Amino acid sequence: MKFEEYRIADGIKTSISKLGFKKPTDIQYKAIPPILKGEDVLAIAQTGTGKTAAFAIPILHILQERKIKGRPDGVKCLVMAPTHELALQIDSVFKTLGKHTRISSFCIHGGVDQQPQIDQLNKGVDVLIATPGRMFDLVSQGALLLKRVEILVLDEADHMLDLGFIKDINDLMRHLPKKRQTLFFSATINDKIKNLAYSLVTSAIRIQISPEDPVARNIEHAVAFVEMDDKRFFLEYLINDHPDKKILVFVRTKVRAERVKSALERVSIVADTIHSDKLQEERERTMRSFRKGELKILIATDVSARGIDIPNVEYVVNYDLPETSEHYVHRVGRTGRASQKGQAVSFCSTEEKELLEEIENNLGKPIQRIVISKNDYQNTLSFTEDKSEDWKKLLIEDEEGEKIRKKKKKRSKRK
Ligand code: ADP
Ligand code: MG
Repeated sequence: MKFEEYRIADGIKTSISKLGFKKPTDIQYKAIPPILKGEDVLAIAQTGTGKTAAFAIPILHILQERKIKGRPDGVKCLVMAPTHELALQIDSVFKTLGKHTRISSFCIHGGVDQQPQIDQLNKGVDVLIATPGRMFDLVSQGALLLKRVEILVLDEADHMLDLGFIKDINDLMRHLPKKRQTLFFSATINDKIKNLAYSLVTSAIRIQISPEDPVARNIEHAVAFVEMDDKRFFLEYLINDHPDKKILVFVRTKVRAERVKSALERVSIVADTIHSDKLQEERERTMRSFRKGELKILIATDVSARGIDIPNVEYVVNYDLPETSEHYVHRVGRTGRASQKGQAVSFCSTEEKELLEEIENNLGKPIQRIVISKNDYQNTLSFTEDKSEDWKKLLIEDEEGEKIRKKKKKRSKRK
């Protein structure tokens, strides 16, 4: 079925064809009809399969049909997302798809002045995309009324219903009308969170797609055994081996992000970091420049692992293994978007082998191994441009490295 055959407003079809979308993706095919019917939907589909448009298209249509012209009578659809960057991205999808409709969308998030946001809300907003913090500030000041919300979307639903956010979401429910349509979208979900999601809605939820393999088909992903101290040489090698490619590097902590950046600087590789200690303005600037391809190497923490859709990221590097299999799926899912192909490699040190096993167990299958011969391993170390020994000191200062070293020491003492 083609988009032209859908019963959706012509203006939306115009935007879809301008975007070059020919036919719906699987999740769009399955989720759009029930959403149009007004059903609650829990949709699980792999990363990069077009979940945003799967909810934005029917929502725009529903609101376009119902909109009473010229009356700013409150937010009708609320989309919740975990990070500023993701909220902005979803807003831009609504704006693009809704360009030829009367539906307005707006994004609110913290880290910026709130008055312009209040002014905009007063003018009237149909679809509001928000991160929880700023949204609650505005609700408590009476600047944001949610009584008119007909549709609630939780994007990255399992994350939004997880420990860090669940209290916010429960509070939010108190401000929303009981009678509403609720949509959950994510690439990952576990049973506990699924039950929690069910408990938030009254009508039955339809689960649309539940892939056997949570990692998207077009991502080739593998693990290489690289010791903690050697990781930076392997990263340097990989970057030099793929000149001009966009590479997204995930590390465990903000401190490590900065350390890896300076380690790369020492060998004349330009990279930037994105994490929660950075100013909102800086974060947006960095993202823009990575999106455009001016910045080639971006070092990120897990804040950037969810939902972010950047074209042409050819490589994802897990410099440190992620904490869980969900994090793994989302991190590697930043490559191989839509019909593109992508590659991901994880550096696993001896200390991380246990974690790797846990991730593989939860994924339900082993991750392919990259076998590095002793010779190649040594060669990679000696290829480095960095001939000084200072980097060792740098890494030792790192809080993570510190911990691991302590453990190692203990172990060797026991021996
Ligand atoms: P997800 O939320 O599932 O991770 P996104 O909604 O971010 O995925 O979409 C991933 C990419 O796929 C985006 O760049 C989007 O423009 C593109 N896309 C979405 N729907 C289609 C479609 N029907 N045909 C082609 N590309 C699409
Ligand atoms: Mg998404």
